[in-house]
Amino acid sequence: MKKIVIAIDGFSSCGKSTMAKDLAKEIGYTYIDSGAMYRAVTLYCLQQQLLKDGRIDEEKLRAAIPDIHISFVPNRETGKPDTCLNGVLVENEIRSMEVANMVSPVATLGFVRQTLVDRQQEMGKAKGVVMDGRDIGTVVFPDAELKIFVTASPEVRAKRRMDELIAKGEPASYEETLNNIITRDFIDSNREESPLRQAADALVLDNSHMSVAEQKAWLLAQYHNVIQA
Ligand code: C5P
Repeated sequence: MKKIVIAIDGFSSCGKSTMAKDLAKEIGYTYIDSGAMYRAVTLYCLQQQLLKDGRIDEEKLRAAIPDIHISFVPNRETGKPDTCLNGVLVENEIRSMEVANMVSPVATLGFVRQTLVDRQQEMGKAKGVVMDGRDIGTVVFPDAELKIFVTASPEVRAKRRMDELIAKGEPASYEETLNNIITRDFIDSNREESPLRQAADALVLDNSHMSVAEQKAWLLAQYHNVIQA
C-alpha cells in the first residue's frame, strides 16, 4: 500500500498528539511529535542557563544548536515515543510548566526553526509518518497528502491539559493553565517565522465536543479516503 505523510497542526493542548499517536499505531506509521523537539531545545536553554529573566541568549544558543541532539525512544506503556536530549531521557522534564512557559519564545527564533525543520524533513523523507505541530502542513511538509488542522475552545483545552497534569501528579491551577494556552496560541499565531496557520488544503477538526474514540474514527476515515483516492 502506498505510504503518505500525514500532517496534524493546530492550537496547543487540543489533543493532536493523542490523535496522531493512535492513528500512527493503527496504520503502522511512525509518530513524530515536533513540539517535543522545541520543548527539548527549551529545556537545554534552561539547563545551560541560556534563559534569564525571560530573555534568551541567542548567540550562545546559535553556537550550541548543532550539538543539541534530540532523539525518540518507544515507550511501550504510553505507546508514545519518549524524548531524549543528548542521549538523556527528558520526557517528563519537557512537559513541565517551566518549559511550557518558555517554549513559544524559543520557537520564534529563525535559526532554531530552520534546524528543527531540516531534521523533521529528514525524518519524514521515507514517508509513512504522522507528524504533529504548528507548521507541519504549511512549512515542513507542504506536499503532505493528508493535512488536518485541529482546534477546540481554549477553556476545553485548559481543562484537558489540567487533567493530564493532575494524572501525572503535577497539579496546576486552571488559571495558570488557561493563561499558558492563550499566551502560546498568541505567540505561535503571531510570530514572523512560520506562524501557526491553517493550510489552505487542510481539513478542519473542531474536537471541543468529541470523544477520543470519535476523533480516532474520524481521522482513520480521512486516511482511508486519501489512500483509496
Ligand atoms: O505541541 P506542543 O504544545 O508540545 O508544542 C510546544 C510549543 O512548541 C508550541 O507552543 C510552539 O510554540 C512550538 N512548536 C512550534 N512548531 C511546531 C511544534 C511546536 O513552533 N511544529
